[in-house]
Amino acid sequence: MTDNTDALAAELRELLGDRGVTTELRAREKASLDGAYLSPILMAQLPLGLADLVAFPTSAEQIAAVVGAAVRHHVAITPRGKGTGNYGQGIPMQGGLVLDMSKARGVIEVGDGFITVEAGTPMVMIEQAANAAGQQILMYPSTAQSSIGGFLSGGSGGTGSIKHGSNHTGFVTALDVVHAVPDARLIHVEGEAAEPYVHTYGTLGIIARATLQLEPLQNWRGLYASFDTFDDALSVIREIGDLEPTPRLVSADLPVLANALPDDAAIPKDRASLRAILDETTVEAASALIFGAGGRIEDVREGPQASMKISMLSYNHPIEWLQKSDPGKYFHIEVAGDALVERIDEVHAVYNGGMLHIEAQHGRPIGMLAGIYESPEQVYAGFAALDALGVGSHNPHHWEVDHEVERTRRLAVHTDPDGLLNPGKLPAEGQVAVAGAGKVT
Ligand SMILES: Cc1cc2nc3c(=O)[nH]c(=O)nc-3n(C[C@H](O)[C@H](O)[C@H](O)COP(=O)(O)OP(=O)(O)OC[C@H]3O[C@@H](n4cnc5c(N)ncnc54)[C@H](O)[C@@H]3O)c2cc1C
Repeated sequence: MTDNTDALAAELRELLGDRGVTTELRAREKASLDGAYLSPILMAQLPLGLADLVAFPTSAEQIAAVVGAAVRHHVAITPRGKGTGNYGQGIPMQGGLVLDMSKARGVIEVGDGFITVEAGTPMVMIEQAANAAGQQILMYPSTAQSSIGGFLSGGSGGTGSIKHGSNHTGFVTALDVVHAVPDARLIHVEGEAAEPYVHTYGTLGIIARATLQLEPLQNWRGLYASFDTFDDALSVIREIGDLEPTPRLVSADLPVLANALPDDAAIPKDRASLRAILDETTVEAASALIFGAGGRIEDVREGPQASMKISMLSYNHPIEWLQKSDPGKYFHIEVAGDALVERIDEVHAVYNGGMLHIEAQHGRPIGMLAGIYESPEQVYAGFAALDALGVGSHNPHHWEVDHEVERTRRLAVHTDPDGLLNPGKLPAEGQVAVAGAGKVT
């Protein structure tokens, strides 16, 4: 602790009470790690930072007061939701204050076509509140327990993205944000003015409240299918994704990935698995496609729990299960393109032990390509080979903002003049994130 952090801790105790701030080592360590463990490249570099203190505001107003106090004491501020973010974006690289939002949770208002929530509200709670009002959220990540502030700041999509794309545009209607200035207060931004705060890791401002668009609730079914081979599942995944009304999610895995998922009779061992959240009116059409490709329908389940369960086996989750089954053995990168279906054998051959987890999307499928980890160089060497196959790739093994960097930097001059918000995440001018290096040069 420095004099600054000592003084800040004292001020925060006044503001939040003794239980609203901690300097205890275990709490600081817990607040200093996120989903970085998914990357063997990042794991080798841990620990990357340790918080000096952690604050737990319970409302948007308290968030603003804590930020103002930290700025006046010139202490770095790293916001934190549930801490599931990939990859290291939530680590307090320069120590200082971790602003834990998990107690600032709650639904403020559900109206016709919108919901307003506190920053720490779990995505699953937002979906449940929307459902109770006959509506649904446009998308939520497979980490359904993660917070709305964290999903907006660090995440990008999930269940619902087939139709609605990423959370960068159109998902948020309005935000209450807090800038890193001595007299910090809640600032209301709407529409396009809210977008720069999305997917920039809190480097532009802290999200204290969010208003999200809702749509009418649909009658969803959770469909589980299995196939002799992954090729059979791939042969229908795009057509299932293109059904109308659009499915909320369509995921498929190789037998080896399916074997790593939690035991479920609807995901039989040693078979390729396809799981989909379908509008009830499309179950018959999807079933016909699956049978036509030689597949079996293992189960069709009803109710919000069934959908949630399928969501929690999508996106990065099969990779996480794979790593749990064999810690330290695998890495993955994010991939996209029709070649994932059309040139799958070549895609798999790019990495030793190559295995694709795939998600249907309108336009082109996306996925997570896993392989057996050898070295950072081996991981980066695959990018050119994938490019040659027509596969777009994104390197997830770094913690820098890589979305609208110029704009964020330009705006942050005003919203964070002292560079206190999540320092180390926004590349400075002239610096670029090196593919895979996990560092900025
Ligand atoms: C197994 C696994 C599966 C995943 N699946 C998905 C998926 O399907 N889709 C997806 O998009 N992501 C996915 N992710 C990534 C991650 O779960 C999402 O980004 C998640 O929504 C982050 O929410 P969180 O509350 O855990 O945020 P955190 O990890 O706590 O924070 C994420 C980032 O946002 C910043 N932040 C947090 N709260 C605020 C705030 N209120 N204001 C400003 N900045 C803030 C943090 O500093 C950090 O930079 C997955 C991760 C794992 C480990």
